[in-house]
Amino acid sequence: MDFRDSPAEAEFRTRLRTWLADNNRGLPTSSTDDEYWARQAEWHTALYDAGFFGLSWPAKYGGHELPTVFDVILDDELAAAGAPPRPSLGYLVQGITAHGSDAIKDRFLPGLISGRDRWCQGFSEPDAGSDLASLRTTATRDGGDYVVNGHKIWTSYSDVADWCFLLARTDPDVPKHKGLSAFAVPMHQPSVEQRPLQMINGITKEFGQVLFDGARVPVENMIGEPGEGWRIAMTIVSHEREPGELGYVARYTKTVRELEGWVRADPTAFRSDQRETVAWAHVQAEMLRLHVCRRLSERLDGIEHGPDGSIDKLLMTWVEQSVGDAALAISGAQSALDPDDVGLKIYLYGRAQSVMGGTSQVQKNIVATRVLGLPSTKEHSLGRPEGPVRPKGALPTP
Ligand SMILES: Cc1cc2nc3c(=O)[nH]c(=O)nc-3n(C[C@H](O)[C@H](O)[C@H](O)COP(=O)(O)OP(=O)(O)OC[C@H]3O[C@@H](n4cnc5c(N)ncnc54)[C@H](O)[C@@H]3O)c2cc1C
Repeated sequence: MDFRDSPAEAEFRTRLRTWLADNNRGLPTSSTDDEYWARQAEWHTALYDAGFFGLSWPAKYGGHELPTVFDVILDDELAAAGAPPRPSLGYLVQGITAHGSDAIKDRFLPGLISGRDRWCQGFSEPDAGSDLASLRTTATRDGGDYVVNGHKIWTSYSDVADWCFLLARTDPDVPKHKGLSAFAVPMHQPSVEQRPLQMINGITKEFGQVLFDGARVPVENMIGEPGEGWRIAMTIVSHEREPGELGYVARYTKTVRELEGWVRADPTAFRSDQRETVAWAHVQAEMLRLHVCRRLSERLDGIEHGPDGSIDKLLMTWVEQSVGDAALAISGAQSALDPDDVGLKIYLYGRAQSVMGGTSQVQKNIVATRVLGLPSTKEHSLGRPEGPVRPKGALPTP
């Protein structure tokens, strides 16, 4: 594997760097900031209009049909420039591309990719998260429409969404996985109610609850065939779990570098255990970077990823939480008293990573049964320590 830029990649990197120097709008760079969520659409369209978004997606729908390595360059340069990361919606694009009819793709992909249309993902419900197939939201045929009734929760960007990629039960009389269908539901209608939720770190703009009370969706907005909802959901979550898809690696590396900078500026101000936590975050972030390089290289070789996306998700979670541990360790005891402390916010946001896109316990079940082929068991692996065990003893000052 050759990590050096090809001439075309180097040219792209230079062009992007130049654009970023003039167009870094000082937007918040961190998902621990409410304004980051509020202004994500603005950043999305700015990147798209400049030709730096949807790099690996089909030109027909507004993409650039470049190899995915260009997305990695984009992530690197955004982090280096102190700009916000690229919005992560690749998994919805993948879901529509893999399962939508030509009419659905033509109608929805251009707006999704350009950022002109905002989307949310309406899968989870109060009693159906890990056990998604138990969801109770129904979509019942009524003439040329389906009528949607139900309650979704933890729906990211729901308050700004124009469309919801909704999973609903269309057939109650078949086994639960087989009775689900997917829809593009218009969010701007009176029978869709938004209820905001506040996260543990104070964020109020990331996600909410959405109540559908007789909402209508035209029949032609069904994505895939009736009953294909489960397969579509599995396509989406397998992509949602890939860190390469999400562009997180550059963000973690940047945070770790900042923490290292604080320690280097005044090493004597930090205890050895604090320095060790930062060093471990460095090791973890580098491990994830190399892992993502390998995964992207596999993709360039035409290898499709399936349930092993769960390994990516677990690694990503461990890294994010290691970075959060380091941020909190460096902040020191004072941070617990200061709700605006950045280290504390990073630490708290990291807790969400082991839940969103499927919990760590569920990822371990998938790795055990679908990657390693072990027999399934009803026993939950709750309470086990997360991630690889950090070696004992002091590590060198980062
Ligand atoms: C920041 C954030 C953003 C999100 N965004 C969205 C979104 O945009 N759209 C959307 O649809 N959802 C979203 N979610 C919801 C997310 O997908 C669910 O929270 C997740 O799937 C877990 O479901 P749950 O919360 O119902 O927990 P539960 O499924 O009730 O799990 C509770 C606990 O039981 C454990 N558990 C459950 N089943 C098993 C099992 N079989 N084996 C072992 N342990 C098990 C879990 O690991 C967990 O520890 C988001 C969540 C977060 C935190």
